[in-house]
Amino acid sequence: MIIRFFLVFFFVLSLFSCNQKSVESVEKKEKEKEVEIVEKESKFLYGINVDSFKVETNKIKWGQSFSTILLKRGVSNLKIHNTSLKSKNVFNLKKIRKGKNYTLLTKIGNKAPGFFIYEPDVYSYIIYKLTDSIYVNKVNKEITYHEKNISGVINSSLYMSFEENNYPPILVNMMVDVFAWQIDFFKIMLKDSYNVLYTEEQIDGKVVGIKNIKAAKFFHDNLNYYAIAYDQGFGDDYFDENGNSLRKTFLRSPLKFYRISSKFRKKRYHPVLKRYRDHLGTDYAAPRGTPIMSVADGIIKEVRWGKNNGRFVKISHNNIYSTQYLHMSKFEKGIKKGKKVLQGEVIGYVGSTGLATGPHVCFRFWRNGNQVDPYKQNDLPEGEPISPKHLNSFLYVKDKYILSLSD
Ligand SMILES: [Zn+2]
Repeated sequence: MIIRFFLVFFFVLSLFSCNQKSVESVEKKEKEKEVEIVEKESKFLYGINVDSFKVETNKIKWGQSFSTILLKRGVSNLKIHNTSLKSKNVFNLKKIRKGKNYTLLTKIGNKAPGFFIYEPDVYSYIIYKLTDSIYVNKVNKEITYHEKNISGVINSSLYMSFEENNYPPILVNMMVDVFAWQIDFFKIMLKDSYNVLYTEEQIDGKVVGIKNIKAAKFFHDNLNYYAIAYDQGFGDDYFDENGNSLRKTFLRSPLKFYRISSKFRKKRYHPVLKRYRDHLGTDYAAPRGTPIMSVADGIIKEVRWGKNNGRFVKISHNNIYSTQYLHMSKFEKGIKKGKKVLQGEVIGYVGSTGLATGPHVCFRFWRNGNQVDPYKQNDLPEGEPISPKHLNSFLYVKDKYILSLSD
């Protein structure tokens, strides 16, 4: 059990570090290309003719802000103030972050820049025009979508296989999420294999992200597992080849991204109390303020403060199951006793109120009034299958997807 816990821990860590690597390399490549454009061919940058401008692209450094950057370059306080006011409805300048790209365009012969351009993400940029009539404008870059089909065989781990084949590592996360209840990814075997059909996002011919997985096949332990995305009017969900939902009535975890810092077990050494006692929950560590979701539809039974539990919410899902979420930094607005909540609805935010060493949510799962380990329950109710109304259309889509998966 402990070994497995560490495996989970390292696996999740490696996912994070690998994602980071890919983001960095995308950013780096982007920068390289940008420099190329500036030097060689382009007269236009961010839609501006830059023939008579000096172009400087940099990354925001620790402690730098819109005003410190521009003050240093000779832009007046008054102008910075007026531009900040204009920015209010377009972009919150407090959200400028270390490591993001910005560009200064300075008319040749001038000292102060005429434009400041900030790139909050790969999908958009914000232009600040600092001369004559000031303006602030957010531009969304044009995204094109491309269907991709990949396959691979596992020689050591799913992640390694993706790396060997140069597939986007973020897809590993998405696959693990899609098959969360069907396949235990810590038990995958040599020669297990996969096919994935997914939609890639490109900007200017470069891959910037993945929109979704449309279909996937995972061959594990001599069985084929299928996942087919289908939208019955509430957004994409995943179904097997017969139209059964791949989801349980419960989400696997109340957070989207997390690290399990302590599993459900009897007799655990308590880091705050400094003695052994039962840990009847699963702790998910995540940064303070991370949204916490209800793992299923239900009705809120308790929203309050407890000495040990801190701010917590308890939700009843039916007459058998309830769930409880502890140590919140704050509750979501409008969350109160008697309110109906849906699966995935945000009920509060990660914190460390009550008896906690660091920000995490202690997730407790109640079955007939007893606290149990949700991951040891083999009979949790299934999600709804494809409705009869959608079945024909689903079967059509499924055949099309499965055919393209086996190419
Ligand atoms: Zn706990």
